[in-house]
Amino acid sequence: MARIFSGIQPSGELHIGNYLGAVKNWVALQATAESFFCIVDYHAIIAAYDPADLRIRRREMALGLLASGLDPQHTSVFVQSDVPEHTELAWIFNTVTPVGELERQTQFKDKSARQESVMAGLLNYPILQAADILLYRADTVPVGEDQVQHLELSRVIARRWNAQYAPDADYFPEPQPKLTPTRRIMGLDGQAKMSKSLNNTIGLMESPEEIWAKLRPAMTDPKRIKKTDPGTPEVCNIYHLHKAFSPPATVEHVAMQCSTAGWGCIDCKKVLAGSMETELVPIRSRAAELRARPAALDEALAAGAEKCRRVAKETMRGVRDRMGFD
Ligand code: SF4
Repeated sequence: MARIFSGIQPSGELHIGNYLGAVKNWVALQATAESFFCIVDYHAIIAAYDPADLRIRRREMALGLLASGLDPQHTSVFVQSDVPEHTELAWIFNTVTPVGELERQTQFKDKSARQESVMAGLLNYPILQAADILLYRADTVPVGEDQVQHLELSRVIARRWNAQYAPDADYFPEPQPKLTPTRRIMGLDGQAKMSKSLNNTIGLMESPEEIWAKLRPAMTDPKRIKKTDPGTPEVCNIYHLHKAFSPPATVEHVAMQCSTAGWGCIDCKKVLAGSMETELVPIRSRAAELRARPAALDEALAAGAEKCRRVAKETMRGVRDRMGFD
């Protein structure tokens, strides 16, 4: 059976950028393959952090994933640090990855340029990502466009390790990207990708009132100054959110009303708020149930980690055997 792996940072409560850009797709894919969805807490410590806060954010993320529809009966939802083989395999991959390849990664160049002192963890981050994926010998990785380069490096690492230690068999499959169908979700400012650090998000668990307080002033088509100005839906972030949340007939109606100045942006945003509510009500309700039964969340994560440790041990047995550590 095909295997899918993907990971998400323990950033706390999911926002609609995480949900539309990754998690909604995971929910759709979970029944199509043996799937592993990981809260990558080791990745989260390459910048300064508060350990107590990390515990809270990891749990909130787990709750958000299950509330969004990941079903622990059919898929493994787990925390990276519960499976020590991730870091063991990452160390091994360090030994087959030239530093130059890591330095060429766009994300490393961007992030390191903004730091006075660059930690080795930032440079080696894509190696741990490769280990995350290849530990489960996953053949498919649902990713956003910004992760494609890292995934390419995972393929190179798999190829290089196979050539060196398993020349007679492709021990590690070369994982293929499965691009998330929803395009990059922009923040409410319409300027940059939705991100907690930019304070331009809508949280999945926020109340309708909180969501409306954020949607109301959100950026629209900057050339549409007055209600009587026709707009260009394709340049408007609100229109793209409609495409993610509203039914096709509504999206068509939005485009028509916008381009003919048939309604104002507030009317348009009210319809969007309604569509979002339809999708978010069951998620919030599942989240409330999970909060009321914290043991259910613990059990789901423990079961996910147990299955992942079994698979990881099996992979590492073959790695150790081929590398002379048996
Ligand atoms: Fe955007 Fe809707 Fe306003 Fe058009 S009417 S600019 S799609 S918010």
